[in-house]
Amino acid sequence: NGRFIVGGNWKCNGTRASVKTLIEELNAGELRDVDVVVAPPFLFLDEATETLKAPYEVAAQNCWVEPGLVDPTHHYDSDTGAFTGEVSAEMLEDLRIPWVILGHSERRNLFNESNEFVGKKVAHARFHGLSVIVCVGETLEERESGKTMDVIFAQLKAVATEIDDKEHSSWGSQVVIAYEPIWAIGTGKVATPEQVQDVHAKIRQWLADNVSEEVAKATRIQYGGSVNAGNCSELARLSDIDGFLVGGASLKGDDFVKICNTSA
Ligand code: 13P
Repeated sequence: NGRFIVGGNWKCNGTRASVKTLIEELNAGELRDVDVVVAPPFLFLDEATETLKAPYEVAAQNCWVEPGLVDPTHHYDSDTGAFTGEVSAEMLEDLRIPWVILGHSERRNLFNESNEFVGKKVAHARFHGLSVIVCVGETLEERESGKTMDVIFAQLKAVATEIDDKEHSSWGSQVVIAYEPIWAIGTGKVATPEQVQDVHAKIRQWLADNVSEEVAKATRIQYGGSVNAGNCSELARLSDIDGFLVGGASLKGDDFVKICNTSA
């Protein structure tokens, strides 16, 4: 399913000093055969772009699209304008930021981003040439009431319907899906290998049934939620895990490099 891909989501963390140290630690680590995408807060994107060495790539943690947009894949200039406090996909493209994380559960829940809004953001970001990590996942309550896959399929459908057909062939390399059960994020309570493999296989089957076999095979599916240097190797062995999206442990350079190298 393509190269293993690990993302480091720094969330709303960092000072000038800590970012400098973290970048030095990352640069000192030796990465094996893996794609690595690091997502600092917007204010540090420029510094990360300037100072992180290859093969590290940089991602924004979010970007804006006008919610009322009818056709996000053919709209040229709708994401700049009177949207105080927002950052547009067009700006990320202009700054040559290659990746963006969209639909993180913290965006969905704390900032009320709907499935449809996230779908539009993904399509619009793709329109601007950005590669996307799109996050999906269920709450504990949804899992316990047997709704896990309903929730995830609705999240996937909102993305698939917004991306037009010709984009589908690039899904494999440029759209990564991160399965992040909300109850496992920042809780220290990692999902079991069985739970992860089960959801990942069902996501892949959904892609085969609703997008194409080709896309289903090529799409990389990351797991996120309390991944650390200790629990990553057991998870990395699962057949449908193609990477991780790491929060807390991505703020420690040594640990993050270890996680990146688990699959090698
Ligand atoms: P933690 O690794 O801190 O649980 O966060 C996961 C996450 O939300 C990554 O996007």
